Amino acid sequence: MEKKILLILLVTCVFAAADEYLVRVELNEDRLTPLAEQDLKILAELEQNAIVLIEDSDVEKIRPFSYQILNAKPQEGDYYIVLPMDRAIDLTLYGDILLHDGDDHLLKIHTGMLESLVKKKVMISRLSSKPMIVQGGTTPSPLLRHAELPAVLYNYMVQEMVDLVDPDTILSNVQRLQDYVTRYSTHDSCFAAAGYIFDKFVAYGCDTVYLQYHESGYAPNVVGVKYGTIYPDSIYTIICGHFDAISYLAPAIAPGADDNASGTAAVIEAARVMSNYQFEHSIRYIAFSGEEQGLYGSQHYAQLARSQGDSILGVINGDMIAYSDIQPETLEVFAKIDNPPCEPFADFFIAAADTYTTLLTNKRMTTTMVYSDHAPFWNQGYLAICNIEDFWVQNPHYHTPGDTIGAGYNDHAFCTEVTKAQIAALALLAIPHETGIEVFEEVGSEPTHLTVRPTIGRRLFTISLTPGSAGPIDLRIHDVTGRLVRNMSVQSSESGNRLSIKWDGTDNTGKELPGGIYFMQADDRTVQTIKLVMLR
Ligand SMILES: [Zn+2]
Repeated sequence: MEKKILLILLVTCVFAAADEYLVRVELNEDRLTPLAEQDLKILAELEQNAIVLIEDSDVEKIRPFSYQILNAKPQEGDYYIVLPMDRAIDLTLYGDILLHDGDDHLLKIHTGMLESLVKKKVMISRLSSKPMIVQGGTTPSPLLRHAELPAVLYNYMVQEMVDLVDPDTILSNVQRLQDYVTRYSTHDSCFAAAGYIFDKFVAYGCDTVYLQYHESGYAPNVVGVKYGTIYPDSIYTIICGHFDAISYLAPAIAPGADDNASGTAAVIEAARVMSNYQFEHSIRYIAFSGEEQGLYGSQHYAQLARSQGDSILGVINGDMIAYSDIQPETLEVFAKIDNPPCEPFADFFIAAADTYTTLLTNKRMTTTMVYSDHAPFWNQGYLAICNIEDFWVQNPHYHTPGDTIGAGYNDHAFCTEVTKAQIAALALLAIPHETGIEVFEEVGSEPTHLTVRPTIGRRLFTISLTPGSAGPIDLRIHDVTGRLVRNMSVQSSESGNRLSIKWDGTDNTGKELPGGIYFMQADDRTVQTIKLVMLR
């Protein structure tokens, strides 16, 4: 009898458990903010709509919005955001199109049809049931803790690293990866390629190298960690690219030279040239797998990083960086407009490219473009950019057996230049320093300590310097592109105590500076850079 009651209780529980629905919510100019304020579970942001997961109990929350139920009782792994690169592809052969938004489609995949779909010229991103981290929501954004982008200033060590980039080494790594013939994620050749990358990270002196398994049967992600000398290991920068590949002859043949041995070789080259330098922050070199099936490897990594509370300063993802359709080729740098706001990070990367390389760049601000390994980091609230040769894809060998050196990979000089730019930005983010030398301290003089209140403000900032050391102290303020916008000379006080001055947010000509992020430094006696946010 007791058993029966228990059974009835159990059955009741199952039915009482809230049903879930996949819902499309139309977005207005406030985008995700009103949804986040209602604490709704946002799974994806497209151009016109958000994809939201609701339970019965959320009905009141969703009522104020214009919405439509797309599917009841959604099962994890059934839904993909798909962008066909070939307009002749009929997606209805592979699944039910639940939503068509701009160029993007939400597809409920038919059982067993994923493999044949991904062999086509499509870009694809699996919809995760883990909600996006959205500003204004109840889950704090990891950006709020460590979003300090350093100013892009000339640094001879960064120049040295860029100069160490060797085109021959990059090409030999692309050749080796291509020679696996296939790097289809579940093929044993892809596991072998993971082993090759693992050995490279070890050879280049990474402090830790590990294989991170995700989807069963899939080759693992390969992660190389170079520890920083000052900050804890949970604060780090990432350079990444996927090393798996696809083609219509997969799993047997998928050489993927441009897509994406090129981006992988850039990661390996970064590990090589940075091996002889020390940095304040840790660096992670990551080669992701399972990208072509819907970003499985990076989704696993980013969600785990977020759940562990990792502070990622920025993610530089390179995916297809070696094909030119026209000369000179321009690199497309994709950054998310909001949630998280990645434009300062794209500006930072472009300033680094402008300072240290001859690379031409084109900033592309987007609400969507979720089709490479940067996207799972966006969803978890981390700063990330995606570097790609062209978008839409212009490479005729994309996802074909012809994606080889000389065909799909046709511009080695461009690949080298992108690699240099990525390394310059990565080095600046991680902050290089000379080993064994106290760089910023002069013998016999106290280091200057700089504070600014407030760091987010409209007009008046109070700058304090301690101790008031002898002689004038030079203050410099740069914008995010590294341009010097204001300098001030401050006379120290007689007492040698704290010294304060006011700054009214104007530049050297007395003009009010526009809103945005600025960086302040006080001469060479301090290592500090203070980030200021100017509100207008
Ligand atoms: Zn790719």
